Amino acid sequence: MMEPQLQCPLCHGTEFDRESSRQDSRWGFTSHKMTLMICRRCRYVLHFSGGRSIFDFD
Ligand SMILES: [Zn+2]
Repeated sequence: MMEPQLQCPLCHGTEFDRESSRQDSRWGFTSHKMTLMICRRCRYVLHFSGGRSIFDFD
């Protein structure tokens, strides 16, 4: 099974650290889940909300 390949728009890196925030005021978002994908090469952060992106992480 092929998984969607996420690619960093800045450095074109394909390895990311994933962080999730659920009902957590740490990121300033309290009403919905946020998924953050952080590029391991340049630390660029991609934001996904609600798990409804084209990338199905959950
Ligand atoms: Zn990057």
